[in-house]
Amino acid sequence: MVMHKRIVIKIGSNVLSRSNGTLDVTRISALVDQIAELHRAGHEIVIVSSGAVASGRSFLAVQGELDSVEQRQLFSAVGQARLINRYFELFHDQNIYVGQVLTTKDNFRTPELYRNQQHCMEVMIDNKVIPIVNENDTVSLTELMFTDNDELSGLIANMMHADLLVILSNVDGVFDGDVSNPASKVIPVVKPDDDLSDYIRNEKSAFGRGGMLTKSSVARQVAAEGIAVIIANGKRDDVLLHIIDGGNTIPYTLFLPQKS
Ligand code: GLU
Repeated sequence: MVMHKRIVIKIGSNVLSRSNGTLDVTRISALVDQIAELHRAGHEIVIVSSGAVASGRSFLAVQGELDSVEQRQLFSAVGQARLINRYFELFHDQNIYVGQVLTTKDNFRTPELYRNQQHCMEVMIDNKVIPIVNENDTVSLTELMFTDNDELSGLIANMMHADLLVILSNVDGVFDGDVSNPASKVIPVVKPDDDLSDYIRNEKSAFGRGGMLTKSSVARQVAAEGIAVIIANGKRDDVLLHIIDGGNTIPYTLFLPQKS
């Protein structure tokens, strides 16, 4: 196994949702199995998981008209509880404990708040607890939110001095052409100076806030800080074990870190 001691794994809403918007518990369970194996192999893992809003929206019947802020607050409040409960039970079956870290942009603004959050996650890791981070969508002010959880995962990777950030979405990586064109291929390696502007369009995903544009710009920024980044398809079986093993039969894009 290639050694990446500390790994931040970002799991997007589209990975955790079926096409009809319901929570895909089979997929969550498959990812938990892989993460549990990495944890047992000695990797230190931090999960950044989306899916709270999608989870709440998928089963909550709303009375009357709600604006977009009210919907986000209501769906995330209920959906986050449901999501973390799933993770907790699935990891518990593997004798692993997880803890919930709900954060806002404010926690990255002052050194005191920054160090407080960093310390909290270090304590969890020291005690073999896997932090599961999400934005606190229920109380975040719309104007002060992260662009999406891709941005949040990049900040967490930096905060925790990760060796690797893995961004899982429902596409295989960065393509060298239109994703819908069968002739397009996944770019396997992006070097710090490579220009990707011809390849990436700002298409948003169905259930999350992010798209390939924010994913690749986060990947570039994080790689510039010296942390390797992989964008891969979380719906592919055993994708995490495969990429941590350095395999090359499942496509993904690796952003090489800038050497300091
Ligand atoms: N924090 C949002 C959620 O859990 C997801 C944000 C995003 O899609 O990046 O639903």
